[in-house]
Amino acid sequence: MERLKALIQEVQYGSDFWSPEAFHNYLIILGRGEEVLLRKAHYPSKIALSHDWHVTFRDMAVQTVKDSRERMAIIGHKNDDKVYLPTFYIKGSNGHIASKLIAEGKADAKAKHGIQGEIGSLHTHPLDYPGQSTRPFFSPTDLFNHLYPNKAHMLVSGVIQGDQYIFAFSSRETLQTLVPEIMTHQGFTDYWVQKQYQDTFGSFSSMIFPSIDKALNGSELNRVIAERHHLVLYHGKVGKPMYRHYP
Ligand SMILES: [Zn+2]
Repeated sequence: MERLKALIQEVQYGSDFWSPEAFHNYLIILGRGEEVLLRKAHYPSKIALSHDWHVTFRDMAVQTVKDSRERMAIIGHKNDDKVYLPTFYIKGSNGHIASKLIAEGKADAKAKHGIQGEIGSLHTHPLDYPGQSTRPFFSPTDLFNHLYPNKAHMLVSGVIQGDQYIFAFSSRETLQTLVPEIMTHQGFTDYWVQKQYQDTFGSFSSMIFPSIDKALNGSELNRVIAERHHLVLYHGKVGKPMYRHYP
């Protein structure tokens, strides 16, 4: 516990740049629970990742480019103060990974690979992922996973698309803006896509079932969701550090 306290001190009052060690320390702390989430203002503007991460990103991206199916990987810990990056991936379809498959993958991580706790997750988007943007972006559903009103919500997640990657972190403030319990993934997506349409054109769209491919700008949609829910967003090129782009 003393060591954990020291780590918290270190990441909270450390520099505006995190080394791969500082990043790992933070993930280890997050593995212990949401109580240690940093405030939004304490996230650094730049985070360097160790070589292993980039190897994993490339590996997942290459597999997705081959068959256009998303891959997902759990970032976990074994209660030993180390962060484990997966070498096995959950294989989804184009644009979707069924929750049943995710549950199976998590069970496998525990049973076959000794992962005791989940810190977060990574997944890929195919290169032809719908929605315009110059950089990869999270679907509203991806961000919704940070906002469940119970302890199942995600604290850190990443998306890899081709040679770029993005990360979202929950902040301490996010916990005050979790969505109502009756909100569904689809309801959340509908709300934000319709809102973007309305903010742009001044009227609701006639689309009855909006979806992410109807979003006008995926990156911009991420920014407004992050603003509402106090998420912190980063962007990087595979092989390079990531930079905060919100806030
Ligand atoms: Zn996604």
